[in-house]
Amino acid sequence: MSQANATLPAEVDQLLQRLGVPRAAYTGGTLAVRSPITGDTIAHLPQTTAAEATRAIARAQAAFLVWRDVPAPRRGELVRLLGEELRAAKVDLGLLVTLEAGKVPSEGAGEVQEMIDICDFAVGLSRQLYGMTIATERAEHRMMETWHPLGVCGVISAFNFPVAVWCWNAALALVCGDSVVWKPSEKTPLTALATLAIAKRALARFGDAPEGLLELLIGQRDIGEVLVDDPHVKVLSATGSTAMGRAVAPRLASRFARAILELGGNNAAIVTPSADLDLTLRGIAFAAMGTAGQRCTTLRRLFVHDSVYDTLVPQLAKVYAKVQVGDPRTPGTLVGPLIDRAAFEGMQNALDESRALGATVHGGTRVDGIASADAFYVRPALVELHDHAGPVLRETFAPILYVVRYQSLAQAIDWHNAVGAGLSSSIFTLNMREAERFMASSGSDCGIANVNIGPSGAEIGGAFGGEKETGGGRESGSDSWKAYMRRATNTINYSTALPLAQGVSFDIGE
Ligand code: NAD
Repeated sequence: MSQANATLPAEVDQLLQRLGVPRAAYTGGTLAVRSPITGDTIAHLPQTTAAEATRAIARAQAAFLVWRDVPAPRRGELVRLLGEELRAAKVDLGLLVTLEAGKVPSEGAGEVQEMIDICDFAVGLSRQLYGMTIATERAEHRMMETWHPLGVCGVISAFNFPVAVWCWNAALALVCGDSVVWKPSEKTPLTALATLAIAKRALARFGDAPEGLLELLIGQRDIGEVLVDDPHVKVLSATGSTAMGRAVAPRLASRFARAILELGGNNAAIVTPSADLDLTLRGIAFAAMGTAGQRCTTLRRLFVHDSVYDTLVPQLAKVYAKVQVGDPRTPGTLVGPLIDRAAFEGMQNALDESRALGATVHGGTRVDGIASADAFYVRPALVELHDHAGPVLRETFAPILYVVRYQSLAQAIDWHNAVGAGLSSSIFTLNMREAERFMASSGSDCGIANVNIGPSGAEIGGAFGGEKETGGGRESGSDSWKAYMRRATNTINYSTALPLAQGVSFDIGE
């Protein structure tokens, strides 16, 4: 173990202290947290019991009853302060994301920037929770829509965006008048503790926010289940695997709670004959290898036209062979560690299955000598397939890019849409007809369809989410805020008559 590795738990401790997390929140408990960078255990968190979780949700419900009556622009002021506190803590929180989730520093900091961006968006939104005025068929009547706070918003998040996902939800939920209860991934609870410590500073500066407005539950899936089943939780935003969504969705449906499901992806890109290949190569490299292939929007399937395949794919193989894999804190590293052994084994199984189907596999091997045997570094894998079949049809949460040669755009779009997930997608082309075909109703069936950029790296301004087994939820920008509010249609009669709609008559006499 290197000197740097030996000091990692101490470095994490210093960071948590600087961020304002009490030591009791991450020492002496039963939830062990390890850094994927070294495999070292870096903290032991006390876990929330089911009874404590229920009490936290009850506090959030009481907070909601107060918060819903605070004017929305005033609610926005809290989110503005949260954005300020995040700016002040950006370097430290970004570094903690690196140490706990293994992201390279620019991606760790980028994740915090995403939190700041959504706070800015939500502050503006706090003055724009507009309803419509609607023409009525009745004289001297007015019809309108009003939007009201919904209740407690539950958030369940995944390890790979340990802080941004909370903020996408919380910033909107807070301006919409909801309270928020968060169950982060059991693999990345330290960044959640730090985020709540930052949020507490914003709450203190705000002054009169109700206690219980922002609650945190630390634990495994059983604590997530408490959030799923509690009747106070009116909307649950659940980010994670499709398997998680399959377990959670029916339970929410059975009590008619609203679900924002942000589940797995199996994202693809199509490279057409007219593509700018230099740009395409860079776009693919970031989308497929960035975050060590552990983004929900990671590029996993690549369809390359026959006419450019033999130019592009060998260049791609060269990039895969030389990209720097290693400790994310080492300058020049682009690909950090996998989260854990299970991720490594899942990757090796998918590669073995591919080989059994006759695929050519470039890379994919373990890179030793970076840290202890408990840390899992791999060279990203480029897998040339003969056919769109086998493990390519499912999401393996690791840096594997499957490549398939195609002859016609129609065939590529068919393959593109022939998987369960429907999150993000791209086409690389300079041909306007191909670009438009890809974005048309008969083109990509995903929630996100891009042209000449890869499928990953979304901005907060757009609605984020996907179709099919990705769950259909939308969060972040555009009109995603509507999921955190309830809509009322109001009809007001300012006449002295009582005309009924559709000409119905109901005469009760004099
Ligand atoms: P995971 O499904 O293992 O866990 C996600 C969260 O769900 C964790 O907090 C976990 O404790 C909780 N959980 C799991 N089962 C549950 C249950 N039955 N009831 C309540 N809570 C439960 O996912 P992961 O390994 O942390 O993350 C990787 C997965 O997340 C990938 O599939 C990735 O594509 C997906 N993801 C999707 C998005 C998106 O926006 N679509 C974003 C990030 C990650």
